[in-house]
Amino acid sequence: MNAHDSERISGLLEQDGMERAESEDDADLVVLNTCCIRENADEKLYGSLGWLKPWKEKGIELGRERQIMVAGCLAQKDKDRVRKRAPYVDVVMGTHNVHRAVDLLEHASMSGGITEIFDEAVIDDHALFPSALPVRRERSYNAWVTIQIGCDNTCTYCIVPSVRGKEISRPFGDIVDEVAALARDGVTEISLLGQNVNSYGRDLSLDARRAGDADIKLRPQFGELLRAVGAVDGIRRVRYVSPHPKDMNLETLMAMAETPAVCEHLHYPLQSGSDRVLTLMHRGYTAQKYLEKIAQARSLIEDAAVTTDIIVGFPGETEEDFVQSLEVAAEAQFDSAYLFIFSPREGTEAAKMQEHFIAPEVMSSRYDRMKVVLDHSAIIKHEARIGRIEEVIVEGRNKRDADAFTGRTRQNKLVHFKSADALRAGTYATVEITSAARFHLSGQLIEVGAEPTHKVRLSVQAL
Ligand code: SF4
Repeated sequence: MNAHDSERISGLLEQDGMERAESEDDADLVVLNTCCIRENADEKLYGSLGWLKPWKEKGIELGRERQIMVAGCLAQKDKDRVRKRAPYVDVVMGTHNVHRAVDLLEHASMSGGITEIFDEAVIDDHALFPSALPVRRERSYNAWVTIQIGCDNTCTYCIVPSVRGKEISRPFGDIVDEVAALARDGVTEISLLGQNVNSYGRDLSLDARRAGDADIKLRPQFGELLRAVGAVDGIRRVRYVSPHPKDMNLETLMAMAETPAVCEHLHYPLQSGSDRVLTLMHRGYTAQKYLEKIAQARSLIEDAAVTTDIIVGFPGETEEDFVQSLEVAAEAQFDSAYLFIFSPREGTEAAKMQEHFIAPEVMSSRYDRMKVVLDHSAIIKHEARIGRIEEVIVEGRNKRDADAFTGRTRQNKLVHFKSADALRAGTYATVEITSAARFHLSGQLIEVGAEPTHKVRLSVQAL
């Protein structure tokens, strides 16, 4: 979501006539779009603001106005602290103020520093869903599409609900229209974005009931949305992040199984394999239910890859709890996982459980033990792909080997392969997998597939 917001801020600035600078010496503006889900976000922010102070002062010496903007969820959460620690910041804006970026910079230029943090309740759909704003996409062939913002869950370790607000679903038709517009612009791969995508539409149905209109279609299901965007002409791949195991239903899995464009990849956050810890986390499912759901997904979706998130060392996690997590991870046979050592986020319930915090050396040992299990299943899953022909979408040249390219399979696995010809990012190709490692596959190019529909657009003057 944060990366998506950054693309929108860049798009707004470009629309206003700015260009991306090659270095900070050339820049007139630095935007720090913070994400407090990341560890040490505040240290990184204040570290950056430390070197930006002389950068801004140098601008005055050079007779150039230099501006600093701090955006994102840390700005939303800590607006006063940012202003106090770095009064030279021109704009501090919250997660619901992205659409105001240009106006706020102008205001700061005329009248001095400004802080603006909106509550989601006071703003309209365009502001709520940054997908509706101009964009500077990092990749021309794929795009994030926001379907929902905020989160109504109360996971005790998570700061998202307090910085992104309550869950609000974007109207179904707006999403499909945006995907169609993206396809016309050459995008072939989309990722639907939300904090809990498979509860999409819950609030839309509540609105309908409140309106008391019997003709209003009941709540749109996430599965219906997958089918609708997957049917858009030109869209070859549909992905989504992130579902919540407690809200995963058969309709979503069926939509994945039956919609050719929806990729065979399910990112399914486990967090813990202990029911006791899952309760402490307020996750709302048991390890058994979780395992049953991925078994169901694998039975319905041919060749489904399953990835996950796991936290080790949650406050109060005993050795017995942790061993249960090891067992569930081993049974689930994940293709890959994001593994985290618990770290408290100020303002969350878990941050208040200090008397139950786990010793750092215990957490670190549990991390290593869990990593062994996860690496083992990743290797097994990846080695099983040797000899298979995979469709990849080219991401670009391999950073370590100038003759090689990197692509991504439908299961979201990275594949490195050589090509005598230069391949443009966004090109589809087929590759035979020849070897496997924990985090990537290697292969041999079979053929370059149909050219992507996106084209480099030349202006009339250039022609
Ligand atoms: S579902 Fe839980 S972890 Fe995910 S954003 Fe909501 S509160 Fe955070």
